[in-house]
Amino acid sequence: MAALTGMQIYKNLPRSNCKECGFPTCMAFAMQVAAKQKALGDCPRITDDAKNSLADASSPPMKLVTIGPEGKQFTFGQETVMFRHEERFHHATGVAVRIRGALTEMQVDELVAAINRADFMRAGEKLAVALCAVEVDGYADPAGRVQRIAQNCRVPLILMGDNPETLCATAQAIPGQRPLLCKATPANVEFLAKLAAGAKCALAIGAGTLEELADATQKAKANCVDDLVLAFSDKNTSETIRQLTIARRAAIKKNFRALGYPALVEVNADSPEAETVLAATFAAKYAGIVVINGHEPWELLPVLTTIQSIYTNPQVPNAVEAKLYAIGSVTENSPVIVTTNFSLTYFSVAGEVERSKIPCYISVVNTEGLGVLNSYAGDKISPEKVLKTLQEQKVAEHVKHRKLIIPGLLPIFKGELEDISEWKEVIIGPESASKIPAFLNSVWK
Ligand code: SF4
Repeated sequence: MAALTGMQIYKNLPRSNCKECGFPTCMAFAMQVAAKQKALGDCPRITDDAKNSLADASSPPMKLVTIGPEGKQFTFGQETVMFRHEERFHHATGVAVRIRGALTEMQVDELVAAINRADFMRAGEKLAVALCAVEVDGYADPAGRVQRIAQNCRVPLILMGDNPETLCATAQAIPGQRPLLCKATPANVEFLAKLAAGAKCALAIGAGTLEELADATQKAKANCVDDLVLAFSDKNTSETIRQLTIARRAAIKKNFRALGYPALVEVNADSPEAETVLAATFAAKYAGIVVINGHEPWELLPVLTTIQSIYTNPQVPNAVEAKLYAIGSVTENSPVIVTTNFSLTYFSVAGEVERSKIPCYISVVNTEGLGVLNSYAGDKISPEKVLKTLQEQKVAEHVKHRKLIIPGLLPIFKGELEDISEWKEVIIGPESASKIPAFLNSVWK
């Protein structure tokens, strides 16, 4: 079906120019929908009739796919741009940890426990393993293993195998779990599509060329499966990135529905370091899922933090609320630290204060989400603004001393703050948050 024009979409909108969608007029919103940058559902006032009549042609160019049962689902896809700065990326790449078929049952149980434990807080956001990729070929009781993993693992499953009968048997052993079946080939796509449709599972499809892949997705769709995933391997990194990029461009720029599905990349690197680099690279271009072997925190964190950075919304300042925070059991003798409201700065400072075991107040200045040096360069922080913040947050009422710890990158504030405020002992803190524990333990007696 040809894509709708902005005018066709506009005629079906309420045309009230209420701005609730974030655009100044219904026409501006319609143009964004026509350009596949927004979904019709982003207009809260659109009627069901209008939505239904426009839905198919105006739906986002990439399908939104959900894996897993209610309560432990992973959703990805529905991306609308090639580059994050054009708008934003919507659904962060999920990291799937592979459970190899060669493992013993005891090793499987230990790995599942490690996956369950693998979550980390960074900049106020929880980062975690999203999926568990279970190899189902080549051992005695794959159905029994998959059942036990489904029962014990907190994340949804990907069933990975080349034998369609085994995929079929393991999927049927966990009814209601809605795993991703990975993967069909052009030769068996119709068989596995019928299975996926019956079990209400998503189906990953791999093929030698993008033409074969597009042909296979259409066969799967003809067999009533629309939750599809494009499967790639890392055997030839540059070729995989080329195919991922072409598929993304075909879907988003050309509205080519046969490739309008999110992608999965299986990473099989020689070393943990290479695996990290490849997984992060594929997450940037354009994998919705990366399957890796690493499950230790030092293996997962570089991948998870890279994904977090890629999927941060560039249109929203990365900021925390500017207020007085109490870290630990503060008293009237606790130190007062001043910092900016750039979330990475705040959470770094707060995390290091916790690590110091010295309860502190942190007075956060509204610098519009900028870090210390950027806010100074951009005139978002000054001694006067720090003083105003301290007064608004009534910091002096919380402590009986008048010592203030300022960022180590702003030593220039010390003299002026001491001159214009009641904070008569301004202490220059460390330049790096990681030095805060040692600093507090040496200067705050
Ligand atoms: S929310 Fe809907 S009705 Fe309001 S301006 Fe946007 S498109 Fe128009």
